[in-house]
Amino acid sequence: FAPWEDANEKPLIQFKGVTKRFGTYTAIDNLNLDIYRREFFALLGPSGCGKTTLMRMLAGFEDATEGTILLDGKDIGAVPPNKRSVNMMFQSYALFPHLSVWDNIAFGLRREKKPKDEIAARVEEMLTLTRLGRFAKRKPHQLSGGQRQRVALARSLAKSPKLLLLDEPLGALDKKLREDTQFELMDIQEKTGTTFVIVTHDQEEAMTVASRIGVMNEGQLVQTSTPDRIYETPNSRYVADFIGAVNILEGRATPRPDASEDEAAYDIAWAEGYEPIHARRTNGAAAEKIAPGSQVYFAIRPEKITLSEERPADAANAFQGKVLDIGYLGSLSTYHVELPNGTVIKAQTANSRRVARRSFTWEDTVWLSWTATAGVLLTS
Ligand code: ATP
Repeated sequence: FAPWEDANEKPLIQFKGVTKRFGTYTAIDNLNLDIYRREFFALLGPSGCGKTTLMRMLAGFEDATEGTILLDGKDIGAVPPNKRSVNMMFQSYALFPHLSVWDNIAFGLRREKKPKDEIAARVEEMLTLTRLGRFAKRKPHQLSGGQRQRVALARSLAKSPKLLLLDEPLGALDKKLREDTQFELMDIQEKTGTTFVIVTHDQEEAMTVASRIGVMNEGQLVQTSTPDRIYETPNSRYVADFIGAVNILEGRATPRPDASEDEAAYDIAWAEGYEPIHARRTNGAAAEKIAPGSQVYFAIRPEKITLSEERPADAANAFQGKVLDIGYLGSLSTYHVELPNGTVIKAQTANSRRVARRSFTWEDTVWLSWTATAGVLLTS
């Protein structure tokens, strides 16, 4: 499933040079984005980056100051919200407190004056889809948070919109329920085939549910790609850092003479008196050549770093340091290791009972090592 890689596929939604200003403040800055049918697209970014504004423009609650938004190839700039075949599910769910679950789901269909039996069939279908059959007669206050969330979803999908917008839909749920509900959302999205666009500031949530993620910063999309590509090849320090705790070492890159044709290989001089970092990439944009002597940022995730007592004989990169802190996370532990020059590097190791592994404690001297392809080189 990769319609964005198919030249014959027409996008369901297109943002073309869209800018949104509130007075002199630019909330969305010349944004271009295509979203395809059946996608589960996540808009990810910190508070205030413009995620909600983008959704509100799709729903029709805000006009673009400049540019056009197309739905199914048609400019929807002048189409009012209720004529767009776009539905928005709010964080507060906005259920009618005096109506039963059944009536909440039927509400939009009744307003459209659909025939009674058609409404009943559709409501039943939605109750089954969201596993709410048993609760049809209850009022919202007689439901748990997770159940209310499912009613809101059922109501939003009842009219079969082409596009469903979800603004932090799981924000009010606790961690465990949130994770379960993410899988439920994915399941419902797949079953209905509706295009979902979700707004979240939770990178794990975006990685879990989305076919693609658009990472936003200050009104701009800074990277749009699949979760794995965003994770493996972030295009900037901003994205690398936003997607997860990452170590970033700044330095100057010198091309290595042993790089092959389709490879980018560099020595990164990063600290006085330390061996340069040896970094290598063979695929795609990440292997783009960097001018000799350029300033670069080497980003490496904690789980790509190995901790050991002795320096591994064949390690492309190895540095010695002292354990400062240990965070125990059940199946994983995170170590903060300080190098003699004061740099602190985070390394994560799996805690396996089956593999006897030397574990380290505070003040231990350890070796941190990683392969030449373990990290990414970024120029911004
Ligand atoms: P959050 O995750 O906190 O909801 P967000 O990424 O959804 O944040 P938006 O709500 O889209 O951010 O807001 C983007 C920026 O535009 C913010 O700086 C906000 O203050 C500003 N903004 C949004 N709506 C208006 C408005 N009606 N008038 C003026 N400024 C606005």
